[in-house]
Amino acid sequence: MTIPFDVAIIGYGPVGVTAANLLGALGHRVIVIEREPSIYSRARAISTDEEVLRIWQATGLAERLKQDMLGGLPLHFVDTKGRTYLALEPASRGSNHPPQMFIYQPALEEVLRTGVTRYPNVEVLVHHESVRVEQDSNGVNLTVVDLTSRQSRTFRARYVIAADGGSSPTRAQLGVGFEGRTYEDRWIVIDAAVKQEWPEINRLRFHCDPKRPAVDCPTPLGHHRWEFPILPGDDEAELVTETAVRRLLTRHGIGPHHVDILRATVYSHHVRFADRWRVGRIFLAGDAAHVMPPWIGEGMASGVRDARNLCWKLSDVIGGRLPDTVLDTYEVERQPHVRTLTRLAVNFGRLITERNPILTALRNPLVRAVMRTPILGRHIRNADWFPGPAYTRGFHANSGGADGHGISQPWVLDENGERLRFDDAVPPGWLILRLAGSTVDVRAWENHAVPVVDVLPAGAASAKGTVVDIDGGLTDWLAERHTSAVVLRPDTFTYTSARDGGRLAKPPFLAISRSTP
Ligand SMILES: Cc1cc2nc3c(=O)[nH]c(=O)nc-3n(C[C@H](O)[C@H](O)[C@H](O)COP(=O)(O)OP(=O)(O)OC[C@H]3O[C@@H](n4cnc5c(N)ncnc54)[C@H](O)[C@@H]3O)c2cc1C
Repeated sequence: MTIPFDVAIIGYGPVGVTAANLLGALGHRVIVIEREPSIYSRARAISTDEEVLRIWQATGLAERLKQDMLGGLPLHFVDTKGRTYLALEPASRGSNHPPQMFIYQPALEEVLRTGVTRYPNVEVLVHHESVRVEQDSNGVNLTVVDLTSRQSRTFRARYVIAADGGSSPTRAQLGVGFEGRTYEDRWIVIDAAVKQEWPEINRLRFHCDPKRPAVDCPTPLGHHRWEFPILPGDDEAELVTETAVRRLLTRHGIGPHHVDILRATVYSHHVRFADRWRVGRIFLAGDAAHVMPPWIGEGMASGVRDARNLCWKLSDVIGGRLPDTVLDTYEVERQPHVRTLTRLAVNFGRLITERNPILTALRNPLVRAVMRTPILGRHIRNADWFPGPAYTRGFHANSGGADGHGISQPWVLDENGERLRFDDAVPPGWLILRLAGSTVDVRAWENHAVPVVDVLPAGAASAKGTVVDIDGGLTDWLAERHTSAVVLRPDTFTYTSARDGGRLAKPPFLAISRSTP
């Protein structure tokens, strides 16, 4: 019996909507179930990074999204007198998008949702709640309640992505634990509309005041964000009132003539991981699988990476190209990366929220001294501590120095001579990329209809099946990994790599599909 949907997505937050775009573009039959009638108006995420922009580039939406973002602004950690003791200027990590951008989450979700309307193969049901998932060996039945009519319906899909947030009802129904900790401190998060600018408006400042630390961040489209901890003795209900919010902002020199308050909401910070990210045909993604404190702006970003990792694998499994076991590598690849980012977020949080005045008095001169050292100072300032795109374990052949690494994305000339970002210049999907003239044997992969793209040096004439490496970025990336040919997975991570005279590892595909007779 045919199964009507390839994938059902529960939850239409930033992770669910990214997955809907990616699967929609791949032509899959997708149904999305979202409980809320419209986009969640509370702007939670305020920042994102270059790799996430590259993923949204794969959905064709990055340039539109960037129009609503703010980039290139300074990030300062300041003491009680407002003096900077640590300034970060994240350097590019090779994705060819700004390393860090400030966002306004509802606007971003709006663009991503509009993107999904390009795909008639994606059906979106808002104001519908998924109340039960039941799976068998072929698919999953989803019981869904229409929250307007209260009618219940069942949808059947081959796989399910549960992107239903930190309190994921799907995770609970599957009996998957969500271990970790919730911090005692709760934070009041204030979003405001700017009426009149003030001198320091255009920088993110972490006010590292032991009495009451604060986050103070410009967000695009005329918005600004502040976050303050709720202290012992504070009345939480009173603190979200306009009067109390005004009192908090006055401490930072912000008056009613500067901003209108849009909303004030209280959040807790958590560090939690789902025990398993896969239960049969159901996958947890985004906050449903992991939550971290917001200090380095990587919660949503990690979920978007989940969607990218999972969707191409689902597509190849649904298409019969790869075995279902490949889907086990989703958690194997993604979890260590999320854990590293979570540790970093926790450590940054400690730096910002330290309440012991003696420790903060020691911290500020110590950090200043470290920042003056040439090597360590630069390492911290440029955010070189941020983990690069690489999976030590997972779905790669482990055959050469580049395996498991995400390739960088320089500007290149495509085969028609147009200057494009690398991902836009080559066919989507699996790809053999080799230095022109390389002697790596790629025939086994060509037999599977995997296209070959030769990398030509700067100055060469564009030609069919080539890219011209105008800035030398691809050549350098390959040379740094002592390799002259790689096979890229659809998410632009390397499956196998080889040096001249060598051979690429065997393709993992289930059936031979020759492109040419
Ligand atoms: C104060 C704060 C600041 C943050 N700052 C950043 C930042 O700067 N950068 C960053 O990357 N991240 C940040 N985050 C984290 C980020 O907001 C989340 O990681 C992100 O929103 C999670 O996206 P998601 O799609 O996984 O889940 P959600 O956005 O929670 O979406 C889940 C969706 O599932 C729906 N749903 C739930 N149950 C059901 C059901 N049974 N049926 C149908 N639908 C259902 C919900 O209605 C919801 O729309 C911040 C978070 C907070 C709280």
